[in-house]
Amino acid sequence: MSNIIAIVGRPNVGKSTLFNRLTESNSAIVDSVAGVTRDRHYGKMEWCGKAFTVVDTGGYINGSDDIFEEEIRKQVSLALEEADLVLFLVDNREGITPWDDDVADLLRRNSKPVLLVVNKVDVNTQLPAASTFYTLGLGEIYPISSSNGSGTGELLDEINAIFTNAEDVLPLEEQEDFGIPRIAIIGRPNVGKSSFINELIGQKRNVVTPLAGTTRDSTDVRFTQFGHDFILVDTAGIRKKSKVHEDLEFYSVMRSIRAIDKADVCVLMIDAMEGLEAQDVSIFALAADRKKGIVIVVNKWDLVEKDHKTVLEFEKKIKDKIAPFNDIPIIFTSIPKKQRLLKVLEAAMEVNTNRTRRITTSQLNEFFLPIIQNTPPPAIKGKYIRIKYVTQLPIHYPSFAFFCNLPQYVRDDYRRFLENRLRENFNFTGTPLTIFFRQK
Ligand code: GDP
Ligand code: GDP
Repeated sequence: MSNIIAIVGRPNVGKSTLFNRLTESNSAIVDSVAGVTRDRHYGKMEWCGKAFTVVDTGGYINGSDDIFEEEIRKQVSLALEEADLVLFLVDNREGITPWDDDVADLLRRNSKPVLLVVNKVDVNTQLPAASTFYTLGLGEIYPISSSNGSGTGELLDEINAIFTNAEDVLPLEEQEDFGIPRIAIIGRPNVGKSSFINELIGQKRNVVTPLAGTTRDSTDVRFTQFGHDFILVDTAGIRKKSKVHEDLEFYSVMRSIRAIDKADVCVLMIDAMEGLEAQDVSIFALAADRKKGIVIVVNKWDLVEKDHKTVLEFEKKIKDKIAPFNDIPIIFTSIPKKQRLLKVLEAAMEVNTNRTRRITTSQLNEFFLPIIQNTPPPAIKGKYIRIKYVTQLPIHYPSFAFFCNLPQYVRDDYRRFLENRLRENFNFTGTPLTIFFRQK
């Protein structure tokens, strides 16, 4: 379970304002024009030590007015299918619209947890009006003001309670620490994920067992290959085609988040004919932010006209777009031609090895102290930064602490400099590195 919360509701009820408040980000563009496409639709939120992913389903409406209600209905269905909790946001100033009625109907007929959130209750005098929303038959109402924050504390407490009662919440560390590497195939619809999985699972002798009960509809499959043991996570999510409209962005994003959270290594598949697009980069960032190992697969390579330079050019384009974290294996595959399919799994296993690599403190210091002596962090305002030693932290992804006198003065380019030296000297291909500066 990935703790995915989807916000649904008509345009202009305040979805992105609420999203910003919950994720404490201002990067979604709030606009009072209905249906304006926004550039950020999901973010992380933390409350009482738990991490949630919040998805704003509102930014995907591009069409004209007539198709648009139908679109939102589809989004609600998708949210019900994919999210763990749905926040149904309504507007206290507008009251109940026929469309709200329809949506409430959909939500009532489903067993997913839903909270009815009445927005734009900015002052207490507006509270009585909110009670009309009880007639939607969705139980308790949560009056809030997304713009000034009132009521959001109660809402968060309720969200927290819902996820506490859920039986299959596992701390991320525990989910990962199964011992056997967990690999997820992620990417936009139609890039070839299901074809790939079907091809692998078709090779029955390698399938040991479908794993029982890691999540409700467990779809993790365990393989043994190359003398390694690994689990492909979330395979049915990929193999099962949804009945509803496939190409809504947030649908694949929610799928991806769920799979990423469960995985140690993510195989990001892209379509060779389309190259690495903005949405692929977003999915890449989701995995990188979560410190997961990453392999990029350029699929449908059979469709590309090639000469001797094509692979290099393709690689360069991809690496430019994902810089600075572009020390990533890139594999070119074709499913019908069965080209390099096992190579993908091999690369994923290598990345997993890199991600679990441990370097001793003495090795690190022998390597780094001379480098730091030669190229110390630049002095700032006459203050000299002295890095005394470095050690790898005992957590489940590669993280390093550099102990120094003035950690707050170390600049980002120096952090990148150290990261690059680490990558040059030790093999961390495909794995994000985290560098901390700590006071000593
Ligand atoms: P969305 O289309 O559902 O994502 O709605 P937005 O978040 O873009 O908000 C639509 C409009 O309602 C904007 O002008 C917001 O400033 C305004 N708004 C959002 N939340 C509140 C609120 O709690 N109180 C008031 N008074 N206005 C709000
Ligand atoms: P998914 O949505 O990512 O699971 O994508 P699918 O596996 O359903 O594939 C989408 C379409 O691309 C299907 O028609 C596949 O037959 C086709 N396809 C998948 N992989 C390849 C490939 O390597 N080469 C070619 N030419 N077509 C492919």
